Order: sequence, then C-alpha cells, then structure tokens
Amino acid sequence: MPFTLEEIKQIPKTDLHVHLDGSVRLESLIDFANRIKVKLPSYTKEGLKDLVFKNSYKDLPEYLKCFEYLCASMQDLENIEQASYEFALDAFLDGIYHIEPRYCPSLLLNEKNTFSIKEVILAVEKGLSHAAKLINEQISGSAKTEKLFSDYPFVNKAFTYTQILCIMRHWSPENSYKYIEELLNIKKSGEVDIRNIDLAGPENGFPVSLHQKAFDLSKGMNKTIHAGEADGPESIYSAIKLADAKRIGHGVNLFNKEYNYGDKKTAELINIIKDNDITIEVCLTSNLQTLPELEMKAENHSLIKMLEAGISISPSTDNRTVSNTTVSEEIFKIQSAFKLDKDTVLSLIKNGFKARFHE
Ligand SMILES: [Zn+2]
Repeated sequence: MPFTLEEIKQIPKTDLHVHLDGSVRLESLIDFANRIKVKLPSYTKEGLKDLVFKNSYKDLPEYLKCFEYLCASMQDLENIEQASYEFALDAFLDGIYHIEPRYCPSLLLNEKNTFSIKEVILAVEKGLSHAAKLINEQISGSAKTEKLFSDYPFVNKAFTYTQILCIMRHWSPENSYKYIEELLNIKKSGEVDIRNIDLAGPENGFPVSLHQKAFDLSKGMNKTIHAGEADGPESIYSAIKLADAKRIGHGVNLFNKEYNYGDKKTAELINIIKDNDITIEVCLTSNLQTLPELEMKAENHSLIKMLEAGISISPSTDNRTVSNTTVSEEIFKIQSAFKLDKDTVLSLIKNGFKARFHE
C-alpha cells in the first residue's frame, strides 16, 4: 500500500528548493500591497487566484507575472520579515523540519533605496528565527515529536533553516562580482551567517561562465544552481565544473535529446553527478506548469530516469504560492505517477536531509 497524503504530511521532510518571494500567503500579499500602496489586479484571495495565481499557466511569462506583484509588494522591511516568519510557520504545518528559503535581496530593495541588502537579509533572518524559536519551543519535549525523531533518525531533532542568496543570471559579470563582495562584507560583520549561493533567472543565453569571477570569489560557500530547466545538460555540466555546485535546481532536461548532448556525454555527466554526491532538487509541479513539452503529465517528467540512473533527488516546491503546492503534495504526486513503493518514497525524503546546507 502506498502512503496516503495525510501520512506523508506526518513524516518530517525538507524543502531544499523554495523561493521565499514565490511562497507568500495571498492574504499577506494583499496586506503588503495595501501597506506600501502597490497596485494589484484584485484585493481578494479568490480574485487573485482567478487572475494571477492559477493552478496551471499558459506559459512561462504568465507564471513569472506572479513575481512582479510579489516582489513589488515585498519591498518593505516589515513585509519581508512577516513573509519570512509565515514562510517558516507554513512549512512546519506541512511537516517540514528543514527549509532553505532562497531569494535575491537586490530584487526586494525599493526604488527610493531607503534600506540596504544587509537590512533585507537581516529582516529575513529575524522572521525565520522568530518562527523557528516558536516551533522549537512547541516541539521540544513533546512525546509525539520524540517518537517522530526516533522513527526517522535522519532528522536533525529540531526545526532548522538556512538562507540561500541568489545571483541573477542576467546580471553583468561586474554586478555579480560586486554583489558577492558585498555579501562577504555582510558575512564579516558577523550579524548574519551567509553561506549559501544560488544562480537564478533566465538560463538560456546567460551561462554560468558569465559569472566565473563571482563564483571564484565565493569559494567555500555552498552552491546550488538552477540548471537544465530552460537549457540542456551542458548547463548542468558547467554548474558543477565551473561553479562547484553541490546541488542542481531542476535538472529536468538532463536526458532531453533536443539538446543533442549525446548518450556518451550524458552517461559521463550522470557519473559526475553521482561521484560528486550531487542532489537534484526536483520541482515536479513547477516544471509541469512552465514546460509545455511535458504536456501537464507527471509521467513525462525525467525524474524517474534520474532515479533509475541512481541519482539522488529531493522533491521540492519551487514556489508554494505560485505553483500552489506543498512538499507533501509533490511527494504524493511523484509516488502516484511513478508507482513508487514506500521505501523509495522514504529514501527521497531522506535525500533532502542528507543534502541540506546545514550542519
Ligand atoms: Zn527555482
């Protein structure tokens, strides 16, 4: 018998690939927009769901439209802190014990520049740590949680988080270098621990090599890189070879023949992924929503080929609000589409804890 959705909710899980700005509660988005006078196409949850935050999108631009409203409404320190606080609480409600919210602080600055990147990062930290404190107070000493921890020994015995800061692919090399310099300075101040970097934004036409200097400067930081989502296997290869990525976001095109990568090179790339213990953060719903070639059928997703090849994958949401999903729903969908047995489902959950950027 496979797991029910309710059973999956009860198992401690991770969400390793989740954008903070794509996971704001719609009720809060409306409050945020009102607070800083951002125009929304509707001021009710239902209206926003009808017009912007849909269950399926006609193409990537329609999907990305959501972020225009989300980012504009988050450009305020109070809003950022509240969004981060609710982000962690909502994750815990889905049985998540470790989250790694990612975002680009530069995109949350307001036009008047009344606050800095550092203040954005500190506001996120404040919201997350407040929520984590409440959650950990609630679970500490509870018999139910103690049982969970003994049933699932791979869990870290507390609710934990770590921020991932995104470089944007379409930035100039000078911009990304300066940004990493700034992050290192903030890290040096000791006020907030900055240890994880992502590369996000338009993949096609903006290769990892463009930001080589920024990646060289950020040596020693953990890297996860969006790759093989809107480009092919070569993009995954360069994320690992040039930027030392320890995880790959999406990787859905790893086996896509349209990129003419060839069987031999694909086999070599699979070996590189396995030899380097690289985990692919699979975001099934998001891929179905933005990649028309999958024809909205989970069965067409390459994650089963990844599993058959022995690659570690970790089911993630990408954007809880924009993709209208949770980790439990992602795992349940994967289990149903590929008829996975319970042991395999548990191994996917375990991968998330193994591949986390946190001691
Ligand atoms: Zn993403």
